[in-house]
Amino acid sequence: MIETGDIGTLIAQMTLEEKASLCSGADTWHTRGIERLGIPSVMLTDGPHGLRKQQASADILGMFNSVPATCFPSAAGVASSWNRALIRRMGEALGLECQAAEVAVLLGPGANIKRSPLCGRNFEYFSEDPYLSAEMAAHHIMGVQSQGVGTSLKHFAANNQEHRRMTSDSVVDERTLREIYLASFEGAVKQAQPWTVMCAYNKVNGEYASENERLLTGILKEEWGHEGFVVSDWGAVDERARGLAAGLELEMPGSNGEGERKIVSAVLDGTLPEAKLDAAVARLLRIVFKAVDARKPGASYDVDAHHRLAREVARESMVLLKNEGGILPLTKGGRIAVIGAMAREPRYQGAGSSQINPTRLDDIYEELKKSAGEGAALLYAQGYALDAETPDEALAAEAVRAAAGSEVAVLFAGLPKRYESEGFDRAHLRMPANQVALIEAVAAAQPNLVVVLGNGAPVEMPWLGSAKSVLEAYLGGQALGGAIADLLFGDANPSGRLAETFPARLEDNPSYLFFPGEGDRVEYREGIFVGYRYYDKKRIEPLFPFGHGLSYTTFSYANLAFDRQEMLDTDTLAVSVDVTNEGARAGQEVVQLYVRDAHSAVIRPDKELKGFEKISLAPGESKTVAFKLDKRSFAYYDAEAEDWTVDTGAFKILIGRSSRDIALSGVVEVQSTAKRPAAYHRNSTLSELEKTEAGAAFVKQLTAALPFASALESEHAAMLKAFMAHMPLRGLLSFSGGKFTEEALEATLRKLNGEGETAR
Ligand code: BGC
Repeated sequence: MIETGDIGTLIAQMTLEEKASLCSGADTWHTRGIERLGIPSVMLTDGPHGLRKQQASADILGMFNSVPATCFPSAAGVASSWNRALIRRMGEALGLECQAAEVAVLLGPGANIKRSPLCGRNFEYFSEDPYLSAEMAAHHIMGVQSQGVGTSLKHFAANNQEHRRMTSDSVVDERTLREIYLASFEGAVKQAQPWTVMCAYNKVNGEYASENERLLTGILKEEWGHEGFVVSDWGAVDERARGLAAGLELEMPGSNGEGERKIVSAVLDGTLPEAKLDAAVARLLRIVFKAVDARKPGASYDVDAHHRLAREVARESMVLLKNEGGILPLTKGGRIAVIGAMAREPRYQGAGSSQINPTRLDDIYEELKKSAGEGAALLYAQGYALDAETPDEALAAEAVRAAAGSEVAVLFAGLPKRYESEGFDRAHLRMPANQVALIEAVAAAQPNLVVVLGNGAPVEMPWLGSAKSVLEAYLGGQALGGAIADLLFGDANPSGRLAETFPARLEDNPSYLFFPGEGDRVEYREGIFVGYRYYDKKRIEPLFPFGHGLSYTTFSYANLAFDRQEMLDTDTLAVSVDVTNEGARAGQEVVQLYVRDAHSAVIRPDKELKGFEKISLAPGESKTVAFKLDKRSFAYYDAEAEDWTVDTGAFKILIGRSSRDIALSGVVEVQSTAKRPAAYHRNSTLSELEKTEAGAAFVKQLTAALPFASALESEHAAMLKAFMAHMPLRGLLSFSGGKFTEEALEATLRKLNGEGETAR
């Protein structure tokens, strides 16, 4: 075990060149070591939902030929489980696989917010909601790191599209950045301390994330207390010395000595203080030695057990979107047409740096056969060509025949690989035309149609009315076939809930007008109104709302209770609610808590997710679910005050099955404790003045003396009162008939401001 003091001693023995050399990788995947000082080199590799460790012979881009590893569902699915404990277990398994492969840091998870459903990498991100995303990321991190393996929370920050990702500039106002895009990282950093954070390729408000001192040092290290180091996304470094000064400790991959040379010359010419380099090296070495100390030589894992875990995670990641007439679960032993090329060639993971080589891969059709029960007759028809857009009439006709001769048709569709990937964004939300045509043709022959979707992000569903049931399987990992079989035949009860809104059409999405920007400039003009925050406020009906997901049982809600009705914003509020399984099957419910600011002076969303719990209930069983809310549950980010602020007043606590299915609600009064120095000026309005006792007394006295005071009680009262409320103090010079003078104005300001602090 190496102590902090020892690291200082080591650094003191290094030459400037040696220190600089540690700040760039040795190659694509390894940090540099220094043999003479006993400093080891460690491996960092992808992630996030499985280990992608390249074989020694692999290509320079590092994309292909990786050793076999368990492929868990990708983050879009995992987040739909809303199950912290399950994600943690998945993380533990990932960590163990890293130990077995001698990997020190597994790159991921990705906590970028799904600003647009078009982002090609959305499959790898958790949610459109920062609270849910941060919770998922934190538990992923805790799981991996419990095994003595680091993580890299990525891509910090505001990396919400693939288009021009290495040069684009995300232009985001401060409140939006804090409440939406940074909050998703903040919760994960504070709760789980990822060993490393990966800075994004893009710029944030004009400055590359890789050399953004405010982000990397001011916010991440100083405000949030991140103790590990920052690694660049692969190739994200612009100016190495500037990056180092900003808080980017490690450049990856190595730059063949370029980065090192720049750091050395910056120290020599005095533009980079050597103390900054020393601090960066200390951060790096603390993690390197931590990883080495935590190594478990000879570690191995049970491939079958991990496959079973992947199946469990997949089961909870899939979302039953629609189930008309309770067509699911399917009766065992029936005649079932299994249609669609994706039943045999499933989409189970995304493309790009997270694409791994699975230890095995379920054939969905074979898994369905295993679960279909005695006497079942399954008939497979390909239906469409996966690599084509136009319908193949022969394939479609064969599928229609199979469907017509069965009791039910289960059709596998979704997005082919070429539709979504790291590196580019989608241009639309449509599925291939041949698949859509097939759904309609099969539905015409067999009304008992179940559609199972394999895709990493929302699709439009013009065919929705033709399918009785839709199961969103996302990219379900290597055990997706077993998981789908478990759910379709009712051996498991669906419990996934959407972690993102499915819009009815792309044009409804709040970023639509501004995505993917002009040239390199991407203005986040929709502000805080991302995902359901927008659809709810605008009352736009989505195809499926955030938080939605069906079950084979039903849950009732009762007895919403708070431990207090009034609180200070520094207090915590304990909320509880009883949930009962009213049906005949065991099931899991995701109890969602949203907060609505019922009075705010600033523009706020209709509601925001501030708590959730996933619980298991046997038939007839009830459980009490408890939540704790604190200041952040009620606050917005006040950019002027540079702080989180709660406006005194009433807040609604909403408990729901989804963002659009609120079962219970109650009200709590929250009192702000924030004090702000009074800073009244000649253009402060009378209603602003009225917020303090002295100001209110002044306004009352003055109003009574106005020439039109009596009219304030007349039929014109409403108009005049509004006119007065928004009147700046100096307006009284014009409307007081000489009763209020410039001298009086100055005296009033002196008096009011002299009082010092005023409550907000
Ligand atoms: C991706 C990262 C990934 C890295 C290493 C980059 O292109 O953006 O997410 O971890 O490559 O493969």
